[in-house]
Amino acid sequence: MKIDLAILNRQFELYQAEYEQAALKVLRAGWYVLGQEVAAFEREFASYLGGKFCIGVNSGLDALTLSARALGIGAGDEVIVPANTYIATVLAITANGATPIFVEPDEFYNLDAAKIESAVTPKTKAIMVVHLYGQAARMDKICAVAEKYNLKLIEDCAQSHGAKFGGKMTGTFGDAGCFSFYPTKNLGAFGDGGAIVTDDSDLAKTLKMLRNYGSEIKYHNKLEGVNSRLDEMQAALLRVKLSHLDELNAERKKIADKYLAGIKNSSLILPSICAGAEHVYHQFVIRTTRRDDFKRYLETCGIKTVIHYPIPPHLAECYARLGYKRGDFPITEKLADEVLSLPMFNGMTDDEIDFVIEVCNGYNA
Ligand SMILES: *Cc1c(COP(=O)(O)O)cnc(C)c1O
Repeated sequence: MKIDLAILNRQFELYQAEYEQAALKVLRAGWYVLGQEVAAFEREFASYLGGKFCIGVNSGLDALTLSARALGIGAGDEVIVPANTYIATVLAITANGATPIFVEPDEFYNLDAAKIESAVTPKTKAIMVVHLYGQAARMDKICAVAEKYNLKLIEDCAQSHGAKFGGKMTGTFGDAGCFSFYPTKNLGAFGDGGAIVTDDSDLAKTLKMLRNYGSEIKYHNKLEGVNSRLDEMQAALLRVKLSHLDELNAERKKIADKYLAGIKNSSLILPSICAGAEHVYHQFVIRTTRRDDFKRYLETCGIKTVIHYPIPPHLAECYARLGYKRGDFPITEKLADEVLSLPMFNGMTDDEIDFVIEVCNGYNA
């Protein structure tokens, strides 16, 4: 049996007729950018999350970058960010000329709330929190620190569509909730896409201008904006998928529960859930000190896996100028050496799940 980390045509086939109908409708409508489908998706996604406004953009990275810009984050400002994240979170900070201040993760791989306060300085302007792998970060504690120091709070929800903390949707805790609709995400489009959710009407207005050359009225440019728009095709397809998102997340949870119950190997550490947090299993990430050997073993058995992520942002080549070295964030660096994501995708069969479990259990470290 051969299994990839994600087999994307499976999720298409689950609702194929609905996607094809939605796509044809857009093709025939003759209106392809910023039209009714985008407006409808923005309404429906805001309502799904329990937020007031939603602004569709080109990507998750743009959602983060434009949110930071709209919140006034720029040169001279410091932004607290998890050391253990995908580099896009950090790129959004540095794209605005601000400085990332890295904070180590907790046992759930998310920003360690207990370590944020010691990173706050008079220059700190915001916290950018990430709900990594689909598990909500400790938003009770993180919101309390943001409030205490009067910091802006941006949530990177690129991996957490539909995940909650204390019953409240991720993306609705801070000033801005930033989502990616990259095809592999839980709410993935069929191309690039992203969105920001906010309750702040002024922020929503600014973001709507920023995504469209900085103009509200055509050819009247108030801000130095960009071209970052969700297109009608992606919006129409996302509306179909959003209507099934709870089922799709429930299916991921079912796969995760099978892994959690079935994988019994003392050399593998399985994910654990923080009290109050919900996990939508964007990725099912295990850990082992023999990671590279285990990855090779799975590959020889026909199972492809991916490391999320092998190089932490502070050690990325592009950030050499920040002057960090190996050893600066030991917990994050250890995770980068030990994590491995097992296959997890909608449309995965019981036979495939059982096969992954059997192969994991057959590994002798
Ligand atoms: C995917 C991802 C992004 C970037 O989203 P794009 O749509 O690919 O630009 C940002 N942050 C995290 C945590 C992600 O997983």
